[in-house]
Amino acid sequence: MPSRLRALCLLLVSGLLACGPLSAAPDARYWSLDEILDQIDTWRTQYPDLIHHDELGITTQGEPIPLLRLSDNAATSEAEPRLFIHAAQHANECNGTGAVMKLVDDLLADYGTDPVAKARLDELELYVAPVVNVDGHRYVFDGEPSWEDWRKTLRDNNGNEQVDFPDDGVDTNRNWDWRWEEYPESDPASQKYKGPYPFSEPEVAALRDFVLAERPLIVADLHSPVSITWHNYIFYMGMGGPEDEISRDVAEEWADRTRTENGGTYNTIYALDTLPKEQCWIYYRAGILSYLMEISAQCWWTGAMVDTIAHRVARGHLALLDRVRTGPGITGRVTDAATGDPLVAEVRIDELHSPDVGPRLTEARFGQYHRLTDSRDYTVRALCDGYDSQVRTVTVGAGWAVADFALEPDPAEVQPVEREGDLRLRASNPLRSGESLHLSLPVGAPAAAVDLYDPQGRRVATLGAGLEAGRVHLLPLPARLEAGIYLARARAGSAHHVLRLVLLP
Ligand SMILES: [Zn+2]
Repeated sequence: MPSRLRALCLLLVSGLLACGPLSAAPDARYWSLDEILDQIDTWRTQYPDLIHHDELGITTQGEPIPLLRLSDNAATSEAEPRLFIHAAQHANECNGTGAVMKLVDDLLADYGTDPVAKARLDELELYVAPVVNVDGHRYVFDGEPSWEDWRKTLRDNNGNEQVDFPDDGVDTNRNWDWRWEEYPESDPASQKYKGPYPFSEPEVAALRDFVLAERPLIVADLHSPVSITWHNYIFYMGMGGPEDEISRDVAEEWADRTRTENGGTYNTIYALDTLPKEQCWIYYRAGILSYLMEISAQCWWTGAMVDTIAHRVARGHLALLDRVRTGPGITGRVTDAATGDPLVAEVRIDELHSPDVGPRLTEARFGQYHRLTDSRDYTVRALCDGYDSQVRTVTVGAGWAVADFALEPDPAEVQPVEREGDLRLRASNPLRSGESLHLSLPVGAPAAAVDLYDPQGRRVATLGAGLEAGRVHLLPLPARLEAGIYLARARAGSAHHVLRLVLLP
């Protein structure tokens, strides 16, 4: 919260302004960016072991996007399940920011006195980005023209070197590489403008890169509705796959513990997969459970309701922390049996597998994975190109069952693809810069794209796009790549194939 004195002064000002139909800026109870940064400094002084301040990325206008990691030993990343909550990617939807600031404050304050609160931070890593659209947030809080309706980034669409409402900016939640081409909103003046190309916005690329590198178990994206159609709702992904029930259960536990301003609880609904939204890309491309929450019934409130909503929504989020902390689920690490090094491998649970959902990869630092499940037996496979795959039965009880895999190197081994006739990448492995991958694409398949990623999940190069079906494509690697491990990923429609490459100097 801002300082008490300042809050009092602003309270008086906003109280006067609230008499009219619209004030000159958001109610003082909403967090400005400078207040957020001050509060982060205060927390770091008070709880240096429990909170780490980092950058998610850099905005269109060159500002850092604050990212917090809360855990015991917060300064170093540990092999614990990760939960990522972020807010205000739409600049005028700030109720989520209030909720995560309240959540962080409660978690830190209760750590020393409440054993459950302590376990929450000891046993997981919580990542929080209170404001993703930092530029837009500043625009709104500076009371610029039509501040209350500004949703987008500050991209200078018309190139006149100033910010114009509504002509400038891109909707960050229509800028993801999921059905982007078919989404019709290409008018820059629209508040839902999809941008000149997918991931054109640095804020969106930063979210993508963070998610691919850290591979959180759950990503939660907080909004407040502009229209009143879908308010007090949690949207979950799932359109008929075997994991839908688990995805929905998480949403329902969360919704049941979140009170609305009318004393009811939140509702859940599956999200459509037809828009170029973060939730679709993160689930269907990256294979990570992804949620969107529409908080309250409008963007802007005044008076005590601002804090009331933040408190209620913050409390509901504890359901997410507890599910990630306690499972039930399957976790483990995949390593190279010869060297013990962590591997970026696919961990497939047969009973939850769907070819429509992106491969569930381990993260690079520890080779760890976490999957939420029910309490029952599952068949779990670890698949990694250049290694013999392994399969085992895992019995899940009330909490986290552990299944580690130490894979034996076998350079001749190339993992089978999903289905006969699916797309397939091949390469001589190891290989050198300038050598080529082969992509075979069966007749009738959709056009394919192949991208190259480093072990942190950052895209290094696009090797091919719009590749036609019915032939084998030769895809040369860029000439001056550093030696090391890379992942080549081919996708065509809903089919994927990931090939791990060892690049020699
Ligand atoms: Zn929104």
